[in-house]
Amino acid sequence: MYSNGVEESTMVMLERLSGMRRGKVPFKYLGVNITPKRLGVDDCQCLIEKISARIRGLGARKLSYAGRVVLIKSDLSTLHNYWARIFILPKTIISKIKALCRKFLWYGNDCKGSPALVSWEQVCQSTKKGGLGLKHLHWWNVAAVAKYVWWLALKTDHLWVRWIHAIYIKNVNWLDYKPGAGVCWAWKKICWVKEIMKPFFLHQGIASYEIKEGYKWLADDGTVKNWHPWISNSLIIPRHKFNIWLIAHRRLLTMDRLVKMEIIQANVCYLCGHDAETIDHLFFQCSFSSRCLALLQDWLKITVPQ
Ligand SMILES: [Zn+2]
Repeated sequence: MYSNGVEESTMVMLERLSGMRRGKVPFKYLGVNITPKRLGVDDCQCLIEKISARIRGLGARKLSYAGRVVLIKSDLSTLHNYWARIFILPKTIISKIKALCRKFLWYGNDCKGSPALVSWEQVCQSTKKGGLGLKHLHWWNVAAVAKYVWWLALKTDHLWVRWIHAIYIKNVNWLDYKPGAGVCWAWKKICWVKEIMKPFFLHQGIASYEIKEGYKWLADDGTVKNWHPWISNSLIIPRHKFNIWLIAHRRLLTMDRLVKMEIIQANVCYLCGHDAETIDHLFFQCSFSSRCLALLQDWLKITVPQ
C-alpha cells in the first residue's frame, strides 16, 4: 500500500482494516522502477545493463549483418519496448540504447570492425522508404505513451482514466487541456505527448489507435524507394537482401571504396582481372559476370531483363 498526502492516523487505520503492509517509493514493479519523481538516468540504468548483457550473450556466435538485424528487431527491441510503453525514457538512455544497437549491427561483439556503412537515421526507416525497418526509439516511445492519451480521449472505463479526469482534466476538453505548474513529472510528460499527437488525433479521430499507426505518422517521413520490393521480398535470402540494400545505398564495400578508405592500394576486379571494381562494374559491366549470367540464362532457359 502506497500513499501520498494521507494523514498518519488514517494510514494506520487503513493498514489495520485492509491487512496490507505499507511500502516505500521508489520500488520495482515487474522489473520497472516506480517513482513519483522525475525518471532519472540511474532509474533506467538496469535497462542498459540488460541490453548489454543480452549482446554479450549473443556475441559468441558469428553472425552476419542480416542475422544481427533480426536479433535487434526481435530481441533487443523487446526490452526497450516494454519500458517504452510505460513512460518517456530520458534522452541519455535512448541515446545509449541506440549506440548499443548501432554498435551491435555494424561491429557485432567485436570492438574493432568495419565502420557504419549507412547512417542510423536511414537504417531506422521502413523497408519501403529505404531502411531496414528498425525502430527510431524516441518516436516509438512517444507513439507508445500516446496510448494513454488515446485512453483519456476515449474516456475508457478504467480506474486510472477516471481518476485522471476527476483530479486533473476535470471539465476541460482533454485535447485542449494545459497542465498547471505544480503537477508531477509523469503527468507533464503525458501532456507533452498529447501536444505532439494532437494533430494526429484531430485528423484520424479517436475511434481506434495502434502504436504502429502513431509511429508511422511521427517517424516514417522518407520517400518510397523503387527498389524496396527487393528488400521486403521474403523469398530472397536475408544475407543477399542486406547486400542489395547496401548496393542500393551505394555502400557495398567494393574495391573502389576500400581504396578511398586507404585499406587497399590497387583496384583491379578479381573476376575479369583488368577493370576497376565498382558496384556498376561488378554487377553490370564485368565481362566475367556477364558471361556467367549468359551461361545461367542459357542453362535455365530464362531471360533476365537488362
Ligand atoms: Zn570485372
